[in-house]
Amino acid sequence: MHARYQQEIALPSQSQCGERFKLMVNSGLAVELENQHAQYTDGVGLYRTEFPFIIRSRFPTEQEQIELYAKVLSSYPQKTVVMRTLDVGGDKALPYFSIIEENPFLGWRGIRLTLDHPEIFLVQIRAMVKANVGQDNLHILLPMVSDLAEVDEAIRLIRQACFEVGDELGIAVPRPKVGVMIEVPSVLYLLPELAARVDFCSVGTNDLTQYLLAVDRNNARVANLYDALHPAVLRALHQLGQQAQALQFPISICGELGGEPAGVLLLAAMGFRRFSMNSSNLARIKWLLRRVELSELALLLPEVLCCHSPKQVRLQVQRFLEHKQ
Ligand code: PEP
Ligand code: MG
Repeated sequence: MHARYQQEIALPSQSQCGERFKLMVNSGLAVELENQHAQYTDGVGLYRTEFPFIIRSRFPTEQEQIELYAKVLSSYPQKTVVMRTLDVGGDKALPYFSIIEENPFLGWRGIRLTLDHPEIFLVQIRAMVKANVGQDNLHILLPMVSDLAEVDEAIRLIRQACFEVGDELGIAVPRPKVGVMIEVPSVLYLLPELAARVDFCSVGTNDLTQYLLAVDRNNARVANLYDALHPAVLRALHQLGQQAQALQFPISICGELGGEPAGVLLLAAMGFRRFSMNSSNLARIKWLLRRVELSELALLLPEVLCCHSPKQVRLQVQRFLEHKQ
């Protein structure tokens, strides 16, 4: 990592003009390696629970999950840890749970699968909630939500899991904060209803780009069409940010776009203030945000929002960045 970025890792995540940002890390497998940054972050914005499931040859037991989640939660004491419920299907296959479909990205994945198998969902939530006893930093995030009935059913099951754990341990177990991933385009149009049901939302720009553009994120043949800086994606994100602000609905970005210089600048210009990224991007993004003024971003944004292509967007942002790096 560039030494000049590393030098500022311990300094506040704050723009030149004093605006504060929350910078969090995305985590999955190697928590031990990734938490070298724990002290310099505002927590974990996305813990992808599917990885520990994928590397096994069977579903992890409740006890195995408790131990795993407790390790993650205790690595970030007093800081938020957002744990996403199992997001398999699509490109993420479990070797011991075969799913054969013609259109896996439009099929049985994320919350769709776990709501059809509440026993899998309940064990996972019970494990999270038990691991959270005495820690109190757990937030639960629901992946691949496309309609409100899924949210209602997931919340009902989360309440049930809290009740069961409370009953078993003989203590009161309050429901942790619950959030929804914004990654299927339908939920862009359901924000007020989501805000009335859950505590926060987190934008998965990787899948949101894939579904808005109808481009498989892993297909090399159409890779030139997969671009989160596509003007349509940026306009959707801009409207989303505005609406979340108007609703006072806490929103963060956990897709790759928030860990890229051009992406984070544009998102900051749109009003987003919380970003979760791979820990390898953290120092660079903090360094960059510490060099911007909101007033100059406010001038950049309208120019970018009227661009006609990702290429034009890149040129505009590149011009801006040349004065920074
Ligand atoms: C996303 O879709 O942007 C996201 C953060 O989730 P994943 O990459 O795990 O699908
Ligand atoms: Mg996703």
